[in-house]
Amino acid sequence: MEKIRFGRTGLVVSKIAFGGIPIQRLSRADGIKLVREALDEGVNFIDTAHGYGQSEECIGEALIGRSRKEVILATKSPALDKVGFLANLEESLRRLKTDYIDIFQHHNISEKEKMEKVIGPDGAFEGMVQAIRQGKVRFPGFTSHILSVAAEMIKTDRFDTVQIPLNFIDHQALDEVIPLARERQMGMIAMKPLGGGLLDSARLCFRYLSQFPDLVPDPGIERIEELREILAVAKEKGPLTQQENKEIEEYRRLLGKTWCHRCDYCQPCPEGIPISMVLAAKSFARRMPFEAAVRFVGDSLKKAENCTECRTCVERCPYGLDIPVLLKERRASWEVFLQDRVWN
Ligand code: SF4
Ligand code: SF4
Repeated sequence: MEKIRFGRTGLVVSKIAFGGIPIQRLSRADGIKLVREALDEGVNFIDTAHGYGQSEECIGEALIGRSRKEVILATKSPALDKVGFLANLEESLRRLKTDYIDIFQHHNISEKEKMEKVIGPDGAFEGMVQAIRQGKVRFPGFTSHILSVAAEMIKTDRFDTVQIPLNFIDHQALDEVIPLARERQMGMIAMKPLGGGLLDSARLCFRYLSQFPDLVPDPGIERIEELREILAVAKEKGPLTQQENKEIEEYRRLLGKTWCHRCDYCQPCPEGIPISMVLAAKSFARRMPFEAAVRFVGDSLKKAENCTECRTCVERCPYGLDIPVLLKERRASWEVFLQDRVWN
C-alpha cells in the first residue's frame, strides 16, 4: 500500500484513509471485523468522529492486540468551547482505547460564528493547546464544508491539517483552499471522495483524485470489497485518459443543475429552511443508520414543507439550482424513505 508524508505533520500515512462514518450502520462485531480487514489491507490512517455513533468504539476494539504506533488515528470534536472539547477528547480516548490521538479535528467549522467561538477566549482551540501540551493530541486540524470559512481557518496558521470536500463535482477547493494549505505544507484530507455516496463510479472518483499526490481521500467504508476496489484503482498511475475526462464531463453535465455543493450562498431563507441539509438528505440516508438519519435531518425535511416558493434562494445560488423544485423532490423521496427505510 502506497504511503505518503502527510504534510508538515511528518506522519507517514496510507494514500487512502479509512472513513469511519458507515461503521455506524453495522453490528458491533462486523464493524470491528471491517476495521481489522482494512488494516490488513495496509490502510494505516483511520478517520472517525466523536459523533459517529459506535464508530470510535469499534475502532478501539479492532486495535486491541496491535501496536498503537502502526496506526494513525484521526477523530473530531464538534465542541466549540474549551470545556466541551476536553470532555469530548477524554471520551474519544476512552472509546479508542488509547492515550493519544494523532490528529484531532474541530468538526465541521462551516460558519464564521463557529470559527470565532472555536478560536476565541475559552474556545475549543484553547482545549486543543492544552491537550497537545499534555501529549493527548499530536496535531491540530479541522474539517469544513464551506470553503470561505476553511480558507479563514487556514490563514490563522494554527492548524496542521485540513479536511474539505473534494471530488470531480465538488472541486472548488482547488481554487483557493488547497493552494493555501499547500503553501503551509498542511496535511490535506479529501472528504466525500465519492460525493457522499452519490457518485456511483468509484473507479472514476479515485482516478480523478489520483491526480493530487499530496491529498489523502477519505472514503466512508461499509464493506471490505468497496475498500479493495478503491485500493486497486489507487494503484493505477498516469494522467486521466481522454475517455475518463469525457465521462467526468458527462457526470458534470448531468448533475450540474441538481448537485448541491453545500456552499450555503442561498441563505438566509426567510422561512428558515436549511436548504443544503435538505438537499443532502439522500447522502445522509445512505450513510447513516435509519434512526440516526431521521434524527439528523428529519427536522430539516419538516421545515422544507414551509417553502413559499419565493425563489430568493434561486437568485443567490451560483450553480443555478431550482431549489424549490428540488426541495419538493427531496420531501417526496423522504416520505418513501420513512416507509421503506432505504433510499435507492
Ligand atoms: S424558495 Fe423556499 S427555500 Fe427558497 S428562500 Fe424561498 S422559502 Fe426559502
Ligand atoms: S442550493 Fe446552491 S447555493 Fe445553496 S448550498 Fe446548494 S449549491 Fe450552494
